Amino acid sequence: MRYRRSHTHSAPSFVRRHWLIIFIPTLTAALCLLFLAYSNNQQVAAATKLAADQKVAFAKIDAQVKATLQKRIDDARQAEAEARASAEADAKARAAQTALKVPLSSTANATNCAVKSPESLQVVVNKKHCFSPLDWAPSDLVDAAGTLLRAEASTQFQAMSTAATVAGQGFGVSSSYRSYTTQITTYNYWVSISGSIQADTYSARPGYSEHQSGLAVDVKAGSCVLSCFSGSSQYYWLAEHAVDYGFIQRYPEGLTSITGYEPEPWHWRYVGTAVAKDMKTKGIQTLEQYYGITGGDYAG
Ligand SMILES: [Zn+2]
Repeated sequence: MRYRRSHTHSAPSFVRRHWLIIFIPTLTAALCLLFLAYSNNQQVAAATKLAADQKVAFAKIDAQVKATLQKRIDDARQAEAEARASAEADAKARAAQTALKVPLSSTANATNCAVKSPESLQVVVNKKHCFSPLDWAPSDLVDAAGTLLRAEASTQFQAMSTAATVAGQGFGVSSSYRSYTTQITTYNYWVSISGSIQADTYSARPGYSEHQSGLAVDVKAGSCVLSCFSGSSQYYWLAEHAVDYGFIQRYPEGLTSITGYEPEPWHWRYVGTAVAKDMKTKGIQTLEQYYGITGGDYAG
């Protein structure tokens, strides 16, 4: 009986009795699948996040590399610009230094005032017309008993001096040719005594002195030098006869604005007899007026 019953209801009763045995593994498997699916999903999400993070990180690195490269380029450009500016500044400094090597800082640029023919016996040297180069020197200087003048001027001066002595109006010489170097000493001496503004009124700057031409001579009467010479008999003799030997009084009274110098009765300049006589005939007292050349004070 028991067996039949058991046999008749064998299948359903087995499930009913053992449903747990079937259900638990099924549930377990389902849970496992769910867990695996969830886990996989998590991994995918993590991988996606990692990829996104890496992308951001790579972009950051890329930006840093680009910034570094740009900075290097900028630095190189700036260094180049600085080097160029420095080189230009050096060049300017060197040019300024070269310009300062003109012996006197107060001396105007020689190229702006250069006389055309310094070797001419009629050269006009004044405060606006200088020798170029500033240390120009004549090549035919003659030393006649300590009086240094260019050959023709020297011959004429000796003849004039002899004639004056014969006439009882003999005079001496206090200064004749002065080199550029000597003129530096002379000018600097007067600057040290009375300052450059005052010195400029009676002592020429180096390169601007007529004494550098070898055509000018300062004379004296005994112990009377400079201003007092104007009242001497020797002065009156020269005022009348110098023209016959080709000499003129270079800086006459009342013409300072034209010559640039106060009157200098002791300073005589050789220009040749033809010019000296022509000037007298025409009543022209200065070389500036005779040749139509600018004079007066220093330019600038
Ligand atoms: Zn003089």
